Amino acid sequence: MRLADLPSVDRVLQDARLARAIARHGRELVVDELRGELEARRALLKAGGAVDASAGAIVGALLERLETLARPSLRRVYNLSGTVLHTNLGRAPLPAAAAEAAALSLREPANLEYDLAEGERGERDEHLEGLLCRLSGAAAATAVNNNAGAVLLALHALAAGREVIVSRGEMVEIGGSFRIPEIVEASGCRLREVGTTNRTHLRDYERAIGPHTAAILKVHASNYAVVGFTASPAENLLARLAHERKLPFVNDLGSGSLADLTRWGLPPEPTPGEALRAGADLVTFSGDKLLGGPQAGLAAGRADLVEKLRRDPLKRALRLDKARIAALESVLRLYLDPERLPERLPALRLLTRPQAEIAALAERLRPVLREYCGALGAVSVEPCASQVGSGSLPVDRLPSAALRIAPAAAGPKAAQIARRLRELPVPVIARVHEDAVWLDLRCLEDEAGFAAQLRGLALDPRA
Ligand SMILES: *Cc1c(COP(=O)(O)O)cnc(C)c1O
Repeated sequence: MRLADLPSVDRVLQDARLARAIARHGRELVVDELRGELEARRALLKAGGAVDASAGAIVGALLERLETLARPSLRRVYNLSGTVLHTNLGRAPLPAAAAEAAALSLREPANLEYDLAEGERGERDEHLEGLLCRLSGAAAATAVNNNAGAVLLALHALAAGREVIVSRGEMVEIGGSFRIPEIVEASGCRLREVGTTNRTHLRDYERAIGPHTAAILKVHASNYAVVGFTASPAENLLARLAHERKLPFVNDLGSGSLADLTRWGLPPEPTPGEALRAGADLVTFSGDKLLGGPQAGLAAGRADLVEKLRRDPLKRALRLDKARIAALESVLRLYLDPERLPERLPALRLLTRPQAEIAALAERLRPVLREYCGALGAVSVEPCASQVGSGSLPVDRLPSAALRIAPAAAGPKAAQIARRLRELPVPVIARVHEDAVWLDLRCLEDEAGFAAQLRGLALDPRA
């Protein structure tokens, strides 16, 4: 094979299959990728490699390249990981009505910052503030990009250039790059640590207050638990101390469900309303954790403090876009009728799904999975425990049911089977545990779609 044997661009373009590819992807992209493909083969030839230079082979490779390019990067997946509010899988799934409200706001103009009654400029916070206040008892509320942003904004607006007091027991890392000491620093405040990892007393806070103190911050133990010989002052005492010294008391709840979860048998999680009643001047919480909405950070509390947040230039940088305002408003409205919340709010529906229902689903799917994947290993139905996720209720587990694939001795290992599941048209995200693949079915609602694509496991030539 010589370089001269490689066909020209024009010659390859005569292949009939490429007419269809051009109709689909556009001429420019097809020609670009064809040049890339020819270039790659030329380089291989120069290096003395064995290269198939036929137009047919080149077209085949080109079509594959175009397929890969056209496939969206952000795709739907089945979350069978066992973690309901999985941060890496997008956290809370939205109700259809909320997603539709978001889509409409994107397609058509909306009164995002427009007062329809007066015919003049309005405030984007207004779409959410009334609902947030009603649901939390706060006097005022605002919304930004996420809860990390809400904490950053609150500290910047209330305490930049001065000190914020935080217990050493709350110097937490929430995940990725959200660490309390770093967020305090990024907001332009100085961190004043008090107490110890396991015990912090009211007097520790009291002693730390000085002329440079601007706020007391409490951070909810979201993704960890301190157990054993522990102490931290009650929130109402901390609030009283802050108020005696004319300091704002900020409580970062993290998840902060807007409803009392215990009425559905879930473990208790502090609500913004409770935290405000216990004396917090400002609470911050996420929109896409237990609240079950889109990614957002909410700050609610005293009107003068919320006003300071609104006037801060960081608010502009962190503000919510119209799609998420639309989705969040739609989700917040569901909380006005808490009785029907578990039917209407997917996050809550999944969290409260009875184990018997999940186990029955597993029994129905077992023969299907065994048919297509029996050669890979033994398929069984097993009880398991789901996690809430997103650092919500870290210690509590929800009884669930899973399909377990125990790899056959001679076949692919659990990690390889898990990879094959991720290669399905709608990737399936499973969990590998003790050399078996676990599919926790708590979050599987599209039973038919899931079963239909399992066939792909058997079609795989490596099966
Ligand atoms: C999750 C969490 C955050 C960060 O919230 P995001 O919405 O992920 O930005 C901050 N504080 C606490 C206590 C949390 O649990």
